[in-house]
Amino acid sequence: MAFIVKKFGGSSVANADRIRRVAGIIADDYSEGHSIVVVLSAPGDMTDDLIERARELNDRPSRREMDMLLATGEQQSVALMAMALEKIGLPVVSLTGIQAGVVTSTDYGNARIEKINHDRISSELDRKRIVLVAGFQGYNKYDDITTIGRGGSDTTAVALAAVLRADKCQIYTDVDGVYTADPRKVEGARKLDEITYDEMLELASLGAQVLHNRSVQMGKRYGVEIEVLTSFERKPGTIVKEVTNVEDMKISGVAKDTNVARIALLGLHDEPGTAFRVFRTLSNEHIVVDIILQSFGRDGTQDISFTVARDDADIAVNALNAIQSSLGFDTLDLDDNIAKVSIVGAGMMSASGIATTMFEALYDAKVNIGMIATSEIKISVLVAREDADRAVQAIHRKFFD
Ligand code: ASP
Ligand code: MG
Repeated sequence: MAFIVKKFGGSSVANADRIRRVAGIIADDYSEGHSIVVVLSAPGDMTDDLIERARELNDRPSRREMDMLLATGEQQSVALMAMALEKIGLPVVSLTGIQAGVVTSTDYGNARIEKINHDRISSELDRKRIVLVAGFQGYNKYDDITTIGRGGSDTTAVALAAVLRADKCQIYTDVDGVYTADPRKVEGARKLDEITYDEMLELASLGAQVLHNRSVQMGKRYGVEIEVLTSFERKPGTIVKEVTNVEDMKISGVAKDTNVARIALLGLHDEPGTAFRVFRTLSNEHIVVDIILQSFGRDGTQDISFTVARDDADIAVNALNAIQSSLGFDTLDLDDNIAKVSIVGAGMMSASGIATTMFEALYDAKVNIGMIATSEIKISVLVAREDADRAVQAIHRKFFD
């Protein structure tokens, strides 16, 4: 007998048939004698639709009222699922975030879960009921409903699994696991049995958004094993945990990020404080900088190149141009026709030649490398955007065929 937290995303509860199918999955686990807490997202596109309805009335509604509205989506899911389970004769109770004791910070729309007072959930489980909890919501110290950020139901599920000390946390999505590359674009991409929290976080930051990032961070902090799987087929998915068998799997995945732009400042003064002033200017604009490269100085000048999200490029360029004379650079060069291609793998820390293999794959595919950055579990290169898919395929082939 195990204690399982299961979370189903919006597509798994989008209509009556799907709700019935999910009820069947829950019923199977329950009949095996497991204790079960289920977290649900709002059905289908309901959250987007509610945001749209709000906009029709007010383009700047208060965030408190927005949370009041958005929390209704998840409430519908748990009530409907409870009815489907009642119908097949199972003992069940649905709870809102407040009833489940999910206490959050005050910031509406993007609140953090601070603690979970789980007395109600625990007593319902003692009575052998299946407990359904509305994801994505909680309440703050003013007793107001809060939501915890788009995609936040994953985080509700992992938080509950941590607090209740569940044996596992299963997150059902519309993909059946985490792949070595985007299976729609890369032939031979395969599903991973296991991946580490850190790898998962890297892949998410590279655009392979399967789980809400905060849920992975929370899983790592509290040691909650998370399984990503599909509700459309009964088969095992990918397990996210601290240590995996990295003996023969040095690389877990190849990912591409096209939301990136490269800015180069040429001919900066080679003196203390230059980098500080460049990056302070950007952080004042709340711009996140990714890869940074500074060349060594010559003739009293130096160059600094870095990447930012493509959406931030214009703001960054304007902010830097505004202080051109005080920074004293000759030229600012912007390239937003690029992509970042990365390999991620906890196993590469202890392996040699990984970078060589990656660069060889790019050479074979005649892809030119713009910039290179490395971390303990990642190597990223900048390439021309038109080369990105070819680069991913070539690298994937080299490592996985
Ligand atoms: N329904 C919310 C959203 O669409 C939360 C979630 O799906 O996890 O963002
Ligand atoms: Mg989601």
